[in-house]
Amino acid sequence: MSFKEFNKALKKNKLLGLKCGDCGAINVPPKMVCSECTGTNLEITELSGKGSVKTFTTNYVAAEGRECEAPYIIVMVELDEGPWIMGNLIDIAPNKVDMDLIGKRVVMGVKVFPGDKYSAGDMARPLFSFEA
Ligand SMILES: [Zn+2]
Repeated sequence: MSFKEFNKALKKNKLLGLKCGDCGAINVPPKMVCSECTGTNLEITELSGKGSVKTFTTNYVAAEGRECEAPYIIVMVELDEGPWIMGNLIDIAPNKVDMDLIGKRVVMGVKVFPGDKYSAGDMARPLFSFEA
């Protein structure tokens, strides 16, 4: 699976991962080989997008051309299927966030961001919100 395919699915709110036929690990975002065992026997699998927050950071300085997005919260989420992915967190103001965030259940949504001078066109990015 190419990154382009992954991004195309993401735009439709589908999170795709690669399940390793050798060791069973789930890899996301897509990789050429399994990150656990370096196997190449990988099969596309759809993931739930649900998981819990492992760590986070608040970013006050956005990339050039994205100044209007700051401040924003980036979370590392451990998906129920195992892998960790990174995404923006909505649902809470960046100045209200504290260590209580660790362990909170979240669910993935998607936002399509317009292209900028560093990207080849618009791109979908995971956007997490609290699980109801
Ligand atoms: Zn593997």
